[in-house]
Amino acid sequence: MTPTDAYHSLIQHVREARLLESVGSLLGWDERTYMPPKGSGHRAEQMALISRLVHERLAAPQLAEWLAVVEQSDLAARPDAVEAVNVREIRRVHERAVKIPTRLVEELARTTTRAQNVWQEARQANDFPSFAPWLDRIVRLKREEAQAIGYRDSVYDPLLDEYEPGATTREVAAWFAELRRELTPLVAALAEARRQPRSDVLTRDFPIDRQHWFGQSVAAAIGFDFTAGRLDTTAHPFCSGIGPGDCRLTTRYQTRDLQQGLFGILHEAGHGIYDQGLDPDHCGTPMGSPVSLGIHESQSRLWENQVGRSRPFWEYFYPRLCQSFPGALDDVSLDDFHFAVNRVARSLIRVEADEVTYNLHIILRFELEQALLRGELSANDTPAAWNERFRASFDLTPPDDAHGCLQDIHWSMGGFGYFPTYTLGNLFAAQFMEQARSDLPGLDDDFRRGEFRRLKGWLNDRIHRPGMRWRSRDLCLKVTGRPLSPRPLLSYLRQKYGELYHL
Ligand code: ZN
Repeated sequence: MTPTDAYHSLIQHVREARLLESVGSLLGWDERTYMPPKGSGHRAEQMALISRLVHERLAAPQLAEWLAVVEQSDLAARPDAVEAVNVREIRRVHERAVKIPTRLVEELARTTTRAQNVWQEARQANDFPSFAPWLDRIVRLKREEAQAIGYRDSVYDPLLDEYEPGATTREVAAWFAELRRELTPLVAALAEARRQPRSDVLTRDFPIDRQHWFGQSVAAAIGFDFTAGRLDTTAHPFCSGIGPGDCRLTTRYQTRDLQQGLFGILHEAGHGIYDQGLDPDHCGTPMGSPVSLGIHESQSRLWENQVGRSRPFWEYFYPRLCQSFPGALDDVSLDDFHFAVNRVARSLIRVEADEVTYNLHIILRFELEQALLRGELSANDTPAAWNERFRASFDLTPPDDAHGCLQDIHWSMGGFGYFPTYTLGNLFAAQFMEQARSDLPGLDDDFRRGEFRRLKGWLNDRIHRPGMRWRSRDLCLKVTGRPLSPRPLLSYLRQKYGELYHL
């Protein structure tokens, strides 16, 4: 077999696996938007079957043969050539798939689909004990998965690697330690500042149909293409890039909370713009896939926070917002509004947290996940450990587990290693935005005119189109000329919030 033939067989095989996987994504989207509750048992079987078929394809022995032929040929000689990148990343996925037994993949898929329903009911009823055996089961399965893949340093490494290829627990822990050291005094200073935002601005009567219309128009304005995507409601918002021309955003609304729906849409639209910016010619291969969850999250955070919570952005959109909700904001100035959407406060719920305290929520989860996986913490003891650490970081005690360790869906989905990518996203977003501002002078003037094409084009060229050509570490170096560091995020937060709160 010639290297070219081997390469084509490899690509066709992997493309079909990714097609199957996108069928699973569509089922997953349906499960969380429109599926009736009683469909969950059958859906679990469907998802388990798809997971098994994808896994079998990615673990297929022919893959190893084709990979070996291509790897030893000239096709893979230049490390950032298309073929070399595809081979490098398919090799990584193949090795993970070979090492994880099919039985474990199916058991994980079945357990986590059921566990998500148990979690949902447990959270509603504030009943951690009903979820505890499921958490215990999932931790055991994930530990088994990590051991099957293998690791040198930390049992957490192979799980983190699933979401952030190439990242290590050790380096993440170092970035997070610096963040916590610097953020803790900033949070305290902001809490004690004399100047505070008005608290009555965002909790007025904002009819949901108007929120939907306005959110959709903002997402379209920043560049999300609604002829290739849609927006629906769900309990726990997400974005699902099904494939070229089909990207599903979700959000949730509350009449008396403008932030949740609107900034949720901006966030998910940022993810969607990334998915829509991938190269369709490389669909189903690493060259047409997102780099990592951290990079994905950098795109959502960049639009949600760096752009969507900036004053120039609201100079354009605030008059339009006022028109969309006649009378609701008559006594609220642009400055009041801008300050209100940038309110910093220690709070219980991660998804409602502001830009400054958010990362402290993540650091807590990152540490608890490691303790669970290392067997130093049991599922049953998780609420107590959570509350104790929460008090230490936030000076607050969760009133119940629904506002504590039951608040997030991730553990019920088996997503250990996922949380840190949110904060990595914040770090990447700040570093990318710093670079974009230096490459594109006058960006704020663009925003004041409701003009986002230069920024979107910059992101498309540098971050979206290259797909997985570079791992996140190298992409950051390539785009910004420096390795990832907490400094850009810290200086952005200090400057922005120092001005707002008159520190
Ligand atoms: Zn996100």
